Amino acid sequence: MTVETAATSLAPLLSGLDARLPALTALYEDLHAHPELSFQEFRTAGVVAGQLRAQGWEVTEGVAGTGVVGVLANGPGPVVLLRADMDALPVKEETGLSYASTATGTDPDGNEVPVMHACGHDMHVTCLLGATDLLAAHRAGWHGTVVAVFQPAEEVGGAPAMIEDGFLDRFPRAEVCLGQHVAPAPVGFLGTRPGPVMAASDSLRVTLFGRGGHGSSPETAVDPVVMAAAVVMRLQTVVSREIGASQTGVVTVGSLHAGTKENIIPDTAELRINIRSTTPAVRDRILAAVTRIVRAEAAASGAPKEPEFAPINSFPVTVNDPAATAVVQRALTEVLGEGRVFTLPQAITGSEDFGVFGTALGVPSVFWHFGGADPALYAGVDPDSLLEDGLPDTVPANHSPHFAPVPGPTIPLGVTALLAAAAPWLTKPTGTAGSTDTAESTDTADTAESSESAVEASGL
Ligand SMILES: [Zn+2]
Ligand SMILES: [Zn+2]
Repeated sequence: MTVETAATSLAPLLSGLDARLPALTALYEDLHAHPELSFQEFRTAGVVAGQLRAQGWEVTEGVAGTGVVGVLANGPGPVVLLRADMDALPVKEETGLSYASTATGTDPDGNEVPVMHACGHDMHVTCLLGATDLLAAHRAGWHGTVVAVFQPAEEVGGAPAMIEDGFLDRFPRAEVCLGQHVAPAPVGFLGTRPGPVMAASDSLRVTLFGRGGHGSSPETAVDPVVMAAAVVMRLQTVVSREIGASQTGVVTVGSLHAGTKENIIPDTAELRINIRSTTPAVRDRILAAVTRIVRAEAAASGAPKEPEFAPINSFPVTVNDPAATAVVQRALTEVLGEGRVFTLPQAITGSEDFGVFGTALGVPSVFWHFGGADPALYAGVDPDSLLEDGLPDTVPANHSPHFAPVPGPTIPLGVTALLAAAAPWLTKPTGTAGSTDTAESTDTADTAESSESAVEASGL
C-alpha cells in the first residue's frame, strides 16, 4: 500500500519512495525481530550507521554510548534536526507476527528479561532511514543541512545523555528539531498541538538524615522515620494548596524505606518521589515546593545534615513551538490531505525526552504522533466517536505485548511525514532562510482540524 499524497512541492523528494518500500519493510521486520534494551542498542546502531554511510551521510557513532548521528550538508540553508529513538522494552511479545521478537536481554538489575519493540521505535528508525535515503538521493530538491539523530534509550532518557556527550558542539546546530511517534490510532491519522504536547515526569530519590539511637531513648536521637512521615504528609499539600485547580500535577511518594528493627532508631530514611506535570511552570513550582518542604521538615526535626536529592530520571514537558507547529501542520495537511492532521485538545500524559534537543539548542521543536494501527481494527467505528471517546480497548496501545503497527502503510506515511515537516525549511528559497516564524503563518486554525484527536489516548 502506498501513500496517497497531494501533488505538492514535496513530490521531487518523495520520488522513489514506492520502489524503496520492500527494502524498508524488510528493514523494519529485521529491527522488530532484534530489539535491544535502552543503552544496549549495539546491533541497531550498527545497522543504522551502515545504512547512513551507504546513503552518503557523514556518520558519527557512539554518541552517548549507542547513539548515531548522520549529517548531510547540502549547500547553504537552514539546519534541520530529525530524530528517531532506537530502544525497546522488557516486554514479552505476544503479537504472533512472523517477525515477532524472541529476544532476551539483561536489565540494569542484572535480570534476564524478554525484549520487544513494544513502543514502535523500530518504526521510527525505519522511517528516518527512509527519509535520509530520499534526502541523499534528491539533493537537487533541497538545500541546507540535515542532522539525523538516532537516539538511544528514549525510555530512560537518552536525549540528555547525548547532550552531555557534547552533542551541541560536535554537530551543526539546528534551527528546528522535528520528531514523531507511532501511535495506536488508525493509519493515516496524525495528531499534534502547539504548546505542551506530552507531560513531564520527574523521579527523584531523597535521603533524610537523622541520628540513630536506641528506640527506648528517642531524646538522644533525631528520628528520620518521623521526619519522613512529616515530609510525606506535607507533600500532599503541594498539589492541593499550591497548584491551580485547572492545572495538572501529581506528587506520589512511591517508596519509603527506613530502619531494620523496631527498637533501633535508624540514621537515615529514603523516599522515592514521582512528579507529573504538563506545563513547565507547574513542573518548576512542584519541584521547588518539594525541595523546600523536604529541607524545611528536616530543619524542623533538627536534622544533623541537609537532605540529599538525587534524580532518578527526568523527562521535561515536550513543548511544541506554536509558529513551527503551524508550519508543520500546514505542510502535513498539504501533502496528506484535509481531515488527516488533527490538533490534540490537550497534552498526552505520556512522556518523551525529544524536547531536550530543542531546549538545549534554544530553538523551536515540533513533535507529532502518527497512526500505525490496522484500519480493520476500526471497522464499523465512526471516526467522530473515536475523537469523542478515545481509542477502543480492543486496539493494543504502546507498551502492550500486542502492539503491532502495520508496516505496509505506516512506513511510507512516517517517511512522508518527516520529509513534509522538514520541507518548509529545506525547500525555502535561499535568502529567506532563517527565523521560523517567517516561514509561514502562525494561525493554526486553518491548517488542521481543530478537534480532539484519535491519538489522544495512545498512552505512551
Ligand atoms: Zn515508550
Ligand atoms: Zn516510545
